[in-house]
Amino acid sequence: MAVIRDVMPACQLFQPTSVADAQRLLQQHGSEAWVMAGGLDSLDWLKDRIKRPKALVDLSGIDELRGIRTIPDGIEIGALTTLSEIVRHPVIKEKYGLLSQAAELVASPQIRNQGTLGGNVSQDARCWYYRAGWPCYRAGGNICYADTPVGRNREHAILHADRCVAVNPSDTAPALIALDAKVVVLTPKGQQVLDAENYFVGPELDITRMNILKPGYLLTAIRIPSTWAGAQFYFEKIRDRNVWDFPLLNVASAMKMSGDTIQDLRIAVNAVAARPLRLKAVEDSVRGKQRSSSTGEAAGNLAVQGAIPLQFNTYKIPLMRNLVKRAISGVQEASWAS
Ligand SMILES: Cc1cc2nc3c(=O)[nH]c(=O)nc-3n(C[C@H](O)[C@H](O)[C@H](O)COP(=O)(O)OP(=O)(O)OC[C@H]3O[C@@H](n4cnc5c(N)ncnc54)[C@H](O)[C@@H]3O)c2cc1C
Ligand code: SF4
Repeated sequence: MAVIRDVMPACQLFQPTSVADAQRLLQQHGSEAWVMAGGLDSLDWLKDRIKRPKALVDLSGIDELRGIRTIPDGIEIGALTTLSEIVRHPVIKEKYGLLSQAAELVASPQIRNQGTLGGNVSQDARCWYYRAGWPCYRAGGNICYADTPVGRNREHAILHADRCVAVNPSDTAPALIALDAKVVVLTPKGQQVLDAENYFVGPELDITRMNILKPGYLLTAIRIPSTWAGAQFYFEKIRDRNVWDFPLLNVASAMKMSGDTIQDLRIAVNAVAARPLRLKAVEDSVRGKQRSSSTGEAAGNLAVQGAIPLQFNTYKIPLMRNLVKRAISGVQEASWAS
């Protein structure tokens, strides 16, 4: 039976207009503060009364966090830039089309108009139990409700699970990893610039977070270097409803070719683990090889090594194998689940 809850718990709303003010507020309120960007994930949590911050820091009035700028070696995207702006931006389309493809497949136009790039990469797990407020490991308890013989785990992890089997649901995250993007974070000790793949954390490091953000931290921008500008890109997302849905699995790759030979490659997948996974072993195995279906086949088999399915998500193993195969071989086949 549906649980009908009352209005959002009261909290203080702060609407800073500069990064400096936001940072000051976040440091002042520490673990009692909640950063809100587009609000799509944030308001779900607050309206369901599961997260109850005392101070809500709404970033929407901070213009310096918006927009896409050209920098000496690539582009910088403000954390508050919407997914729709990313989809439409001519330079992203022309040079870093992998990101526009991924952003265009996020949810629905309304959600892309409101959802920000910073929020998309920082969103929390969509596990049913956790979102409904069950006291599982990720919520600070000592059980995983999804990893039981009757748990609803069709959407969950096949790799790197550690007590929690939830997955990271972001579509833009693997595209950013494939583009070798850097994430700019303001911490109480100063600015950190990290490789996108190191922004995300799995349960073995911290079961209560999906990224490195701690109280007082603010994600300000994402930089994409020109290294992979204009490379051959591949993005594919499989979801239950094509009209709009979270990924059951997605793959993103950037490839440089020399004739028929794969000169260099970066490839990442998401929705298979609690963090998006860069497939380094696959990259190393195909560099210098011909781009062909047999190279793709071998890469797909390598990608799923070590995968352990749960009761209801065995399908994710052939799905991942075939998405990686297609990304490497560049050939789409209808047999992803065979
Ligand atoms: C119905 C629905 C369907 C969706 N489908 C998809 C999908 O198919 N694919 C997909 O990738 N996503 C999907 N999403 C996610 C959506 O696209 C948004 O990206 C996401 O919900 C959060 O973006 P937001 O800007 O609204 O951020 P918010 O909800 O405001 O924030 C999300 C989280 O990030 C933190 N945060 C945000 N910005 C910052 C910052 N600058 N610094 C520090 N912390 C920050 C917040 O504290 C919060 O924890 C869906 C969401 C909904 C509600
Ligand atoms: S998968 Fe993770 S989030 Fe879901 S019930 Fe288990 S511990 Fe909680």
